[in-house]
Amino acid sequence: MTTTTTTAITHIANLVTNDPSLGDGTPLGLIQDAAVVIDGDRIAWTGESSKAPATDNAVDAGGRAVIPGFVDSHSHLVFAGDRTAEFNARMSGRPYSAGGIRTTVAATRAASDEELSANVARYLAEALRQGTTTFETKSGYGLSVEDEARALRIAATHTDEVTFLGAHIVSPDYADDPAGYVDLVTGPMLDACAPYARWIDVFCERGAFDEDQARTILTAGAARGLHPRVHANQLGHGPGVRLAVELDAASADHCTHLDDADLDALGQGRTVATLLPGAEFSTRAQWPDARRILGAGATVALSTDCNPGSSFTSSMPFCIALAVRDMGMTPDEALWSATAGGAAALRRTDVGRLTPGARADLVMLDAPSHVHLAYRPGVPLVRAVWRAGERAL
Ligand SMILES: [Zn+2]
Repeated sequence: MTTTTTTAITHIANLVTNDPSLGDGTPLGLIQDAAVVIDGDRIAWTGESSKAPATDNAVDAGGRAVIPGFVDSHSHLVFAGDRTAEFNARMSGRPYSAGGIRTTVAATRAASDEELSANVARYLAEALRQGTTTFETKSGYGLSVEDEARALRIAATHTDEVTFLGAHIVSPDYADDPAGYVDLVTGPMLDACAPYARWIDVFCERGAFDEDQARTILTAGAARGLHPRVHANQLGHGPGVRLAVELDAASADHCTHLDDADLDALGQGRTVATLLPGAEFSTRAQWPDARRILGAGATVALSTDCNPGSSFTSSMPFCIALAVRDMGMTPDEALWSATAGGAAALRRTDVGRLTPGARADLVMLDAPSHVHLAYRPGVPLVRAVWRAGERAL
């Protein structure tokens, strides 16, 4: 007979379950003076603290808040080097002519497997300290068959949510032959990468891949069992969001420049709009209008876009604070988008919620309420983290 250990976390001032049928009936499913029971790697029970069933172990939350672990559904962690000088020049108003993504491609190609894997582990540890318990990550700094496959092989040792982004930019090796690069991405590169990935992604933007190229790449990936996601409408208006909805992509990411047709598409399809405010912060760009996207009836996720060029943050609390301050989201909406929204963007129902049967991924805050994540920006409020029922921090 196998037995699992049960643990009750009691005296939680505010528990976010993300189940409207629990608690106060809002999307956050808030329960006050609550308890959670963990059985093995799953949530077994949530409710009022005074009604918690007997368990093997107990943890007294002492009036703190407990929320689901953050689901960071968009990051680029398999890379080497950094781009400090580029960021410094941009923020200092100085011209800077370097390679952008190409700089990171060169450093990544030159790095050993061990260096790349150690880098991923380092950024994951950083994210865990800030409450992230599920994350997606992408290739896209290899841009050759061998280097893209290597990036995904390494990523797959750290997470199940792995995305093939050979179509990040046209490889410098194919600068004069973008059509040849699309053939490579949809041919030998896809063959080498598909075994390690769940998703396929394209940077559909002027200067990267146009609508036809993006459709060709995403369709080829789908034929190999990789589900689409799209980098869309970050730098300007374009076809990315509508293409994402047309192909039933799990997520259209960035969504900074949207017209009414884009909003209609997002409102009608099931593609999640993933907003990445770290990118707008780090490039001093226009903010996405979250209110307009929510008003269109779209599901919104929040994510870090952690990458060395345009958003070098692994902090979901920081993104929540930006979303509330600069994108018009309420603290409740931002918390939902950083947890249940991220899960929706990964088409997951086992994470991003604290309901019976869900994976026991919980964050205890050094605060009485999740609202403090935006109310106290920049303050390290994560006190404890459980991942799959195990105390991880
Ligand atoms: Zn990205």
